[in-house]
Amino acid sequence: MLYGEMSFMTSTVKKPSGVQTSKVVVSPHGVGVWKAIRSLWSLMAGKISLRVGNGRKILFWCDKWLGHGPLKELFPEFFSIATTPNISLESAKGVHGWNITFRRLQHDQELERVVEFFKTLGSFQGFKDTEDSLIWKPTSKGTYLCFLCGAAGENNSHLFIHCPVTGQLWQLFLNMVGIRWSMPATSVDLLKCWNQNDGAVSQKKWWKLVPACIWWTIWKERNYRAFEDKYNFVEKTKMNCIFLFYFWCKESYAEEAESLVDMIGSL
Ligand SMILES: [Zn+2]
Repeated sequence: MLYGEMSFMTSTVKKPSGVQTSKVVVSPHGVGVWKAIRSLWSLMAGKISLRVGNGRKILFWCDKWLGHGPLKELFPEFFSIATTPNISLESAKGVHGWNITFRRLQHDQELERVVEFFKTLGSFQGFKDTEDSLIWKPTSKGTYLCFLCGAAGENNSHLFIHCPVTGQLWQLFLNMVGIRWSMPATSVDLLKCWNQNDGAVSQKKWWKLVPACIWWTIWKERNYRAFEDKYNFVEKTKMNCIFLFYFWCKESYAEEAESLVDMIGSL
């Protein structure tokens, strides 16, 4: 898989209930990839586009695979009379032409739009011998968007410090000790001042583990999304971080285990 791409079919997310379910909505006629992603991962929807492979996982009418939007939005009058509104792109494009059928014949006054419709379809470049895929769009600066929030370019400082998702993990630990802190600009700056924080806190051995614990959790979640095409909701990511923190503390600072249990229990 290329960097910045995601394959459709392996997509799964863990719901807050812990029940694992497919991120892909399967309809009797196909797989509503775009719809599913939009509903579960709305923040990301505008940041990715579709690359047509074999067309099996793309919905002809509902996914944005050609032109400037889904065909159902570009040609709503035809979508409303489509016989198979959930037809896949693969099924819609036959060897000898388009297999698009409607519940009624088009009216004469719709002729211009019919021509426009098939002209749009005419710009289709054809199938490829690959799976359909999602493409992670680069930002205007040519950098790839953060896999966690999709709202900024991914770089070290954003991913590990300033990303809103990462920020929730920092806040988790800062709240734990009642510290109000404005985050430093870079991860290097953070490490420099983390241990110089409030004396009582920085003397606790477990405090030094926090940055590594957060960064390891974030890095795993980032790669989970980038390479396995899955993601955890932020609450699950926070739980992962807490479990990892407890595990590391227990391994390294067994003498503080009791106070740690109390502390984690208060989260
Ligand atoms: Zn981010």
